[in-house]
Amino acid sequence: MENLLLKLKEIAYNLSWSWSKETVELFNDINPDFWNWSQHNPVMVLNEINPNYLEFILEKKNLGSRINSIYADYQNYMNKTTFFEEKYFKSKDPIIAYFSAEFGITECLKTYSGGLGVLSGDHMKSSSDLGIPLAGIGLAYNYGYFTQLINQNGWQTENYELNDFKNLPIYLLRDENYIPLKISVNFPGRDIYCQVWVAKIGRVKLYLLDTFIPENSVTDRRITDILYGGDNESRIRQEIILGIGGCRLMKKLGFDIKAYHLNEGHSAFLCFERIREKMISEKVSYEEAKNLCYYSNIFTTHTPVPAGIDIFSKDLFMKYFTEYAEKEVGVSPDVLFNEGDLNKGQADNDKFNMAFLAINNSNFINGVSKLHGEVSRKMWKLPDTRSQIDHITNGVHIPSYVSLNTSKLYNAYFTPDWKYDYNIWDRIDEIPDEEIWALRLLNKYQLMKFCRERITEKWISMGATKEKLKDAEYILKSEALTVGFARRFATYKRGNLVFTDIERLKRLVNNSERPVQFVFSGKAHPKDEGGKNLISQIVSYTKDADLKNKVIFLDNYDINVARHLVEGCDLWLNNPRRPQEASGTSGMKIIANGGLNFSILDGWWDEAYAPGNGWKISSIMDDNIPVEQKDLFASESIYDTLENEIIPLFFKRNKNGVPVEWVKMIKNSIKTLAGTFNTGRMVKDYCEKFYLNVK
Ligand SMILES: *Cc1c(COP(=O)(O)O)cnc(C)c1O
Repeated sequence: MENLLLKLKEIAYNLSWSWSKETVELFNDINPDFWNWSQHNPVMVLNEINPNYLEFILEKKNLGSRINSIYADYQNYMNKTTFFEEKYFKSKDPIIAYFSAEFGITECLKTYSGGLGVLSGDHMKSSSDLGIPLAGIGLAYNYGYFTQLINQNGWQTENYELNDFKNLPIYLLRDENYIPLKISVNFPGRDIYCQVWVAKIGRVKLYLLDTFIPENSVTDRRITDILYGGDNESRIRQEIILGIGGCRLMKKLGFDIKAYHLNEGHSAFLCFERIREKMISEKVSYEEAKNLCYYSNIFTTHTPVPAGIDIFSKDLFMKYFTEYAEKEVGVSPDVLFNEGDLNKGQADNDKFNMAFLAINNSNFINGVSKLHGEVSRKMWKLPDTRSQIDHITNGVHIPSYVSLNTSKLYNAYFTPDWKYDYNIWDRIDEIPDEEIWALRLLNKYQLMKFCRERITEKWISMGATKEKLKDAEYILKSEALTVGFARRFATYKRGNLVFTDIERLKRLVNNSERPVQFVFSGKAHPKDEGGKNLISQIVSYTKDADLKNKVIFLDNYDINVARHLVEGCDLWLNNPRRPQEASGTSGMKIIANGGLNFSILDGWWDEAYAPGNGWKISSIMDDNIPVEQKDLFASESIYDTLENEIIPLFFKRNKNGVPVEWVKMIKNSIKTLAGTFNTGRMVKDYCEKFYLNVK
């Protein structure tokens, strides 16, 4: 028994459980109520459940052999020979440092807001799968990003939940004397200290810096409280901790980092710190040190929208960097300021741009899809004398987003190693159409159940009567074509586009022979009134008598909600204004679950779409045509394609009730897309193009 508990604990403290569906199922089976109450946090389950009761359950439910087999799989994963060491070399310590302001690994670890974080999390997971010697560096937010609750009036409200680090699958980094390891960075007139939490993600580690310690003043402790919260001053403070603090941590741990990857510009202050270290270690000038560091910095940009980039005023920059420049680097603060100067020494140079800092200091720069690469080259216009902006298309860590049933089907037809075999998808035709269709129905049923439970919980919290709760059984139905739309509510993503012609939409959802239903979810940034308005509009439509139960909105889009949606939806809708979506990744998550994409040819879909693997929404790309007209055009393309192509195909059944042509499309989508749009391919690309070419 003792032995079983130790094994469980070891499994719980390595976040690789989050993509082992068998392990998630095990923790659920130990006690489903505890599992849900803990927000899917195995450490909390093990810490909070009465030990005698836990032993009783393990015995009564006879879980011993399952734990042993899961533990054996875990050991096997951790010790197998990896792609990287087979093809390149073995490295005990990390040699690549991957910096990001957010990391989305699994729902209980609230250190992410959305797509950027989930991408960083998937980068870590695939690095583990492939054995890439990489360390992640981020911040340990005490509150993370907000929890969304839509109130009685349909308006988004934001609540902040405290992260209980001691009860999460992370541990405090300690030195050889078991004393918590700390690093410090200079702020005006004082030093700020950080302790460090470590998240084990399979073979790789993520280091999270935390200022909530007694060494800091009461206000300074709150620097790492909230992700993307507060004003510009809170931002610059967090970014100094991330970039400069993160660099110092790598040094303190004695790692010989060869490549620094800046995932978006938030961590770009690391460029200063690297130059400072080089000036000391190589005894060279600022310019020489800058040149030496340049060839080992990699900057990945994620937005084609200039408003999405951090910009600080000169005053604010000088407040935080005068002392650092003069005392620590030994240069005038203007030298540092010029690295992020938008106007390059021209008259009104009073802005510091984090993307410029990163661009000026990175030999390797990339956009996150083919189209975004092109857009970025136009947007930044780098001089011909330097390396140009490249692209590496984003991906997703497929095992993290497949349902338990999907995973079981692939285990049965392939081997459990399908998770790490990017060529397996050529074999999808081995699975009979009937089985694919049965999987679709199971996945959709799970989504319906989830929606009903979530909405019931919400009603209860709002004081609904027992009578009212019975209505939950009318929410969604299994025979309808289920369309998902979930993402951040930024206006360019046009969350309300499908409501443009409300009568036409009503005819679609109320067709009794061929019904369609929609599930929406997504957060708006707390300061984005436009985004919040979109949410409120959609929520009010969900209350319309003709749309009720057929168009629904799920509160608090997070990794958990996302997973249920991408598992269960038949069709994934994405209709941004082209070319503002840098990549988008949620559509990639539905592929292995048997969902199909229906999207504007923007981001990844621009290079992924081919007739027969999903559908495109037409858009107008002419700057002379007003936005309203372009939106109208795209909305008509949505209705036309649904009415004439998608709905007829979905409801065309053979004598056994299987939509054979639809299933053929699913198989084609899996065959042509799953092997490419995953982070295994993406991380290999980063290795081959950048990590292994640093100088
Ligand atoms: C995958 C994911 C995203 C990113 O999806 P996009 O297609 O880029 O909008 C955002 N948030 C969550 C919770 C996700 O799981």
